Amino acid sequence: MDMETTNDASLDADVIIVGGGVTGCAMATALANGKRRILVLEARTGHKPRFAGELLHPTGTQVLDELGFLPTLRKHGGVDVDGFAVVKAKEVPVTRLPYAEIANHRPTGFAMEHRDLVTGMREWAEQQPGVTFRFNEKVEEVLRNDSGRVSGVRTTSVTLRASLVLGCDGRHSKIRPLLGLGEEARLLSFSVAMRLPDGAKHLPCPTFGHIFLGAWGPMLIYPIGGPDGARDARGCFDVTRELSGGPKGAAELLRREYAPHLPAPLARALLESLDREPPQIAANEAIRTDQAVLPGAAIVGDAGGCAHPLTAAGMTVCFTDAQRLGRLLRDAGNFSNPQQVDTALRRYEIERYRFVRVREVLADALYEVFRGVEPGTRAIREGIFQYWEGSSQARARSMALLSGADSRPSVFLREYLTVVSTSTSAVLAGKTGPIRGEQATLRQRFDSLVGLGQKSLEKARLVFRDVRQELLRASA
Ligand SMILES: Cc1cc2nc3c(=O)[nH]c(=O)nc-3n(C[C@H](O)[C@H](O)[C@H](O)COP(=O)(O)OP(=O)(O)OC[C@H]3O[C@@H](n4cnc5c(N)ncnc54)[C@H](O)[C@@H]3O)c2cc1C
Repeated sequence: MDMETTNDASLDADVIIVGGGVTGCAMATALANGKRRILVLEARTGHKPRFAGELLHPTGTQVLDELGFLPTLRKHGGVDVDGFAVVKAKEVPVTRLPYAEIANHRPTGFAMEHRDLVTGMREWAEQQPGVTFRFNEKVEEVLRNDSGRVSGVRTTSVTLRASLVLGCDGRHSKIRPLLGLGEEARLLSFSVAMRLPDGAKHLPCPTFGHIFLGAWGPMLIYPIGGPDGARDARGCFDVTRELSGGPKGAAELLRREYAPHLPAPLARALLESLDREPPQIAANEAIRTDQAVLPGAAIVGDAGGCAHPLTAAGMTVCFTDAQRLGRLLRDAGNFSNPQQVDTALRRYEIERYRFVRVREVLADALYEVFRGVEPGTRAIREGIFQYWEGSSQARARSMALLSGADSRPSVFLREYLTVVSTSTSAVLAGKTGPIRGEQATLRQRFDSLVGLGQKSLEKARLVFRDVRQELLRASA
């Protein structure tokens, strides 16, 4: 039932969305029904270029499509993406993981430069009825009423009241601590990013996102399109958190230790780009939260946590969060019934963590496998390629987990253990020596088997912890 109520004139808006990044734009659009007053407060003026999410899986793309964003984003240069391709080492054939192999699911993802993505998303969100953006409004305080319920915010210049406050203010959210919501944060590594003009044609599969292995950390290179039909690519290189020397030091590192592991045309495109401009650097963090709502407030998207960007799952979480919350609040009119709103928020919290947990554990596991130097993780790396090369069903199951089509912890664990068992066979056959094709020594095989056992136990423990927490939350 739609709670049809007249707008409370004492309020500045029905809902305040803190943050006008990709999540804030999706959230505003998901809530807009022509009757609600939706105020988006964005700390910055304009949009300072910074490197962040660009490659989007089909699940997130589908949400953008349903919210009407895609035509505007295509005008800003966005392109379809057909899947992932993993390149184990130079001169080794590519392992293709097409999205189209996932049954009954959208067959394409999407990619574009982050700055253009935000510009396009703001353009569309601002056109939605009842949505107003205010820039240069940094939220510094959360207001509560006499019963402790969140009732508005204070920015650097003004106090604003609303029935609902949604924190879409990114991984270093200010709203999260202001609401008293906890977090666990770890710095994992840095991403060093370069635009490769007209670089997509050098990719082994020009419409796929690629992961190249062989350097210290994985190299993620994907098409990002560009204005006027450009076919640019983005290179995103995972480097140690001990990185020093700023952009100059990072450029030197890419030239010296990453370019040699790429196919020659891509390496040339990277070196030419590095001669033209310095790279951008962004920290890769894992931030985990266990609580996302309070009476009258919720955190959405990266404000609710993030994982290593290797699996490119961040924005899929942002957009599914926004769509989910929009759906759960669909019948809540202009949010004047606190009980109805809080019931929807609690449901949002249960459903969001159910979706997010597998993304987190998968991002951790894949990063560990693609970066790992220990015998156990190296063995799993061999196993995973054999598994993917073995059948299209195996690839489809992995891609369903990666892309957000499947978020069941039991499926993740089953897949992980299947890869471990493939790896164990490879180890026993002596096929996982330090150099491919070289026979492993008995000592190396023993270390690999111990490592495989340890990894399996570790992942099982993590999955059981998450499932237990989910059951407790659902029964509360
Ligand atoms: C290196 C890197 C690579 C990535 N690659 C991918 C990828 O390929 N695919 C993918 O899906 N994801 C990727 N991600 C993740 C993706 O970038 C994020 O999930 C996404 O940008 C989060 O969007 P958001 O709107 O929640 O937060 P943000 O993008 O951080 O936006 C938050 C907004 O809130 C504003 N704000 C902050 N504080 C306040 C305040 N107090 N008051 C008002 N406004 C405020 C900020 O100015 C900003 O505009 C990557 C992340 C990193 C770091």
